[in-house]
Amino acid sequence: MARPDEGKTEAERQLTLHVGLVCVVATAAAVVALYQLVHLDLTGGDLTRSIALAFTAALGVRINWRIRIRATVHAISWSETAIVLGLAVAPAPLVVLTTGTGVAIALLSMKPSPLKTAFGIAKSMLLAAGGGVALHTLGWSPQDTDLRHVIGMIGLAYVVAVVLDELLTLPVIAMATGTPLRRLFWDDLGLRLTSALARFLLIAVTLVILQADPRLLLAVPPLVLSLHLLYSNQVKSRTEQQAWQRLARTTDALNVVDLDKVLTTAVTQATELFSADEVEIELRDAGRTVRGASGTITYDGPAGTPSEIEGTVLPARLEGHDRTADVGMLRLRFRGPVRLNEREQYTLRTFASALCTAVRNAQAYAELARVADEHAHAASHDALTGLANRRQLLDRGTEQLDARHAEGVTALVLIDLNHFKEVNDTLGHAAGDQVLMQVADRLRAAARDEDLVARLGGDEFAVLMRALPAPAIAAHRAETLLGALHEPLDVDGMRISVEASGGIAAAPASGGMPELLRRADVAMYQAKRAGQRTATYAPTRDTADLRRLTLGGELPRAVADHEFTVNFQPLVDLGSGEVTGAEALARWHHPRHGVIDPLRFIEAVERSGMLPAFAEAILDQALVAAVTWRTAGFDLPVSVNVSPRSLLDARFPGAVLARLQAHDFPPDRLVLELTETLTLSQLDVVDRVLSRLRDSGIRLALDDFGTGYSSLSLLSRIPVHELKIDRSFVTAMESSAEAAAVIRSTLDLGRSLDLAVVAEGVESEPQRRALWSLGCAAGQGHLFARPLPAGALLAALQRGSGGRPGTLATPLHDTGSVIRLSTPGRRQPARNRSTGLPHLPA
Ligand code: C2E
Ligand code: CA
Ligand code: CA
Repeated sequence: MARPDEGKTEAERQLTLHVGLVCVVATAAAVVALYQLVHLDLTGGDLTRSIALAFTAALGVRINWRIRIRATVHAISWSETAIVLGLAVAPAPLVVLTTGTGVAIALLSMKPSPLKTAFGIAKSMLLAAGGGVALHTLGWSPQDTDLRHVIGMIGLAYVVAVVLDELLTLPVIAMATGTPLRRLFWDDLGLRLTSALARFLLIAVTLVILQADPRLLLAVPPLVLSLHLLYSNQVKSRTEQQAWQRLARTTDALNVVDLDKVLTTAVTQATELFSADEVEIELRDAGRTVRGASGTITYDGPAGTPSEIEGTVLPARLEGHDRTADVGMLRLRFRGPVRLNEREQYTLRTFASALCTAVRNAQAYAELARVADEHAHAASHDALTGLANRRQLLDRGTEQLDARHAEGVTALVLIDLNHFKEVNDTLGHAAGDQVLMQVADRLRAAARDEDLVARLGGDEFAVLMRALPAPAIAAHRAETLLGALHEPLDVDGMRISVEASGGIAAAPASGGMPELLRRADVAMYQAKRAGQRTATYAPTRDTADLRRLTLGGELPRAVADHEFTVNFQPLVDLGSGEVTGAEALARWHHPRHGVIDPLRFIEAVERSGMLPAFAEAILDQALVAAVTWRTAGFDLPVSVNVSPRSLLDARFPGAVLARLQAHDFPPDRLVLELTETLTLSQLDVVDRVLSRLRDSGIRLALDDFGTGYSSLSLLSRIPVHELKIDRSFVTAMESSAEAAAVIRSTLDLGRSLDLAVVAEGVESEPQRRALWSLGCAAGQGHLFARPLPAGALLAALQRGSGGRPGTLATPLHDTGSVIRLSTPGRRQPARNRSTGLPHLPA
C-alpha cells in the first residue's frame, strides 16, 4: 500500500498544510459565528437577506475568469464583492455562515479539486469574518443610515477583505505553481488595483440604490455582468499582448548557430511561454531528446526514455511554414489536464516552426564546419600514404622560409623512384600502392622528427629539412634517406628492390618554395642523368633560371610592348556540350624565351609593382574578346583570374568598373576568379574590395576550391556565385575514393548554397560522365579545348561539334545511359542576416 504522502513534493505538502490551516481558522470563525447567532434576535428580513446573500455569493463564484499557470487553472471571482455588500445589510455572523453555504453550493456544483473547494469555502468565510471584525471594531451597526458614513465603513471593510484575500490566495498560487511569490504579487498589480476600485464603486452604487429603493437592485446584476465583461476583456488583451511580446523575444533568442544553445534556449523559453511543467524536444535524425523544467535542462540524451511527468502531453511537429522539413517533435507536458486556447495553439505552431528553422540553420552550420574540416584534411594530406601533400609542403616551407629569425638553413630533398612504372605495369596497381606505402614508411622512419616528409604525387617524395647547421649537411642526410630504400621491399611475399634518385637544394635567397622545389627538381634530374644516387643543386648548371627573366626591367617592357596576351579556355555544359563561358589565361610572349606559362611569371609580376598595369591589360583583352564574340552571336560570360594581391588594392574595384564601362560590357557577364589565402581573407580591405565588386553586379568564383584551408571561411565572409573544383581532385577521382568524396561534398555544398560548380581539368570522357552523374553541370579542360587565342575560340564556336555551333562536345543524353542528379542553379543566394552565411535550404 502506498502511503498517501508518497510521491508528493515538498511544495505540495506545504500547500496542503497552508490550506489546512486556513480551514482550521475558518472553522473556528464559523463556530464563533454560530455561537453569536444563537444569541441574536434575527428578524424575517435578516433571513430573506441572507438567502439573497448566499445566492449572490454563489453567483459571484460562478461569474469568474480563468488564468492557467502550468496545469492549474485559477478562477478569479466576484464573491468578495457579494460578501462586503452582505455585511452592509445583515449581521456579520449571519454573513459568515451564509456566504460559506453559498460558496459551498456553487463550488460543489463546479467540481474543482477537494483542496480547491475547501480553500474556496474557508477563504470566503474568513473574508466575511475579517470584514465583520473590522466593522465591529469600528463600532458599526447595520442600523446606521447616514449614507456617507455607511460607504466609508463598508469601504474600510472592503479594503480589509481585499488585503486578506491577497494574503490568503497569493501563497496558494505560488505554492501550487512553483512561481515566486514576489513575482506573482507584482504581476498585474495595476490590474488588480483597478479591479478592486471598480468593485468598490459597484459596492457604493449598490448601497446608494439600497437606500433609495431596494427594488432598483434588479439593475445590479446587469451592471456586474458588464463590468465583468469589460474587465475580462482588458485582462485578455493584456495577456495576449504580453504573450506576443514573449513569443517574439523567444524566437529572437533562438537565432543562434550552435545547436546545443538552440535546444537549451528553446526548452527553457518554452516552459515559460506555455507555462508547462516540462518541455521536450525530440530531434528525429539525431535520435536525441532534450527535456527541461522550470528553466533548467533535466534530460539530454538518446530518444526513447520516458518522461517522469504524467498528465497531459501536447505535441507539435517541428516543421517549416511550408510543411516540407520535419526535424522532430516538440512536446509540452502538464501534470494535470490542460487545453490550450486558440491563441496558445497558434503560438505553439509559430514557436515550433521558428524552432524548426533554428535547428535546421544550426545543423547546416555544423555541416559547413564539418565539410571545412574534411576539406582541410584532404587538402593537406596524401590519401594513400598519409604523408603531407604538395600543398602542405608548400605551405610549411613558405612558413619556414618566411620566418625571420629562423636558425640555420632550410633544405629540400626531392626523391623520385626509378622504374616505378614497371612495378605498376607488371605487378598491378595494388602492388604499386604497397610499394609507395612502404617507401613512405621507410622515409618517415629515416627522417628526423623536425623534418616534413611529403608525397608530391606519383612516385615523387620530398623531405623538407629545417635548421640545418650548414647546407652541406643536407647532402649527408639525403644519403641516409636514400640508404633507407636500399633494402628490398616485401610486397605480398615478393622481394622488390626500388632505386631512387634524390635532388638536394638549399633555400634560395628569393623565390620562395616554388624556387626551392624547382632547384631540387633540377638537381634530381642531374642525379638521374649522371646515374648518381643524389646530386646537389648548383646554379652554374641551371640553364633556365627564371630569376634572370624577371630582373633587369623586363616586366615594364613586357607590359609596354604588349608581350602579355590572353588565351581563352571554354567552360562547357557537361551534359549538352554547349559552351557556357570562357576563362582568360595569361601568356607571356617573350622575345627570346618564347611563350612562358603564367605560373612562372605571376609571382614576379605581383612583387614587381607592375601588377595593376598587368591586371588591367589582361582584363582589357578579355573584355575586347567577349565583345567580339557577342557581336558574332555568342553571348558568353568571361572569367578573369585575380591575384590575391589585387584584392589588397582599394583602387582595384574602381579600375575594373572603369574597364567595364569603357567597353560597355555588362558587369554580370564578368566573373572574377579568386584564390584565397588565410592571411588575405582576414584583412578588412579584402572584404571591402570584394563587397564592392559584388555589389556592382560582378560575379565571383572561388578558384582551386578544395585545396585551400580557408575556402569555407572566405565563403562565409563573402558569398561567391561559383566554385571551381580543383583539377587535382578531378584527375584523381577515378582512382581515389577520397578525391571523389571531396568532389561530392563540394557539389553538395554548391547545391545547398545554390552556387554553380565547375570542374577543372576534365581530360577524358569517363571523367566527364562521372562528374555529370554526380550532379556537376559544368566543366573545363583539355577534353573540350585547350586555352586558345580569342579568334581561334570564335572559329571553334562557329564550327561547333557535330554541326551544332556553340557546342564543343556531343550531348551526353544521346547515349541515354547517364541520368543527371540535379541542376545547381545560378541564382544568387540570399544571406542570413545574423550569421552572414547564405540561407541554407533543407
Ligand atoms: P587556373 O586558374 O586554375 O587555370 C587553369 C589552368 O589549368 C590553366 O593553366 C589551364 O591551361 C590548365 N588546364 C585547363 N584544362 C586542363 C586540363 O584538362 N589538363 C591540364 N593538365 N591542365 C589544364 P595555365 O594557363 O598555365 O594557368 C595556370 C594558372 O595561372 C591559373 O590556374 C591561374 O591561377 C594563373 N593565371 C593564369 N592567368 C592569370 C591571370 O591573368 N592573372 C592571374 N593573377 N593569374 C593567372
Ligand atoms: Ca582560374
Ligand atoms: Ca583553378
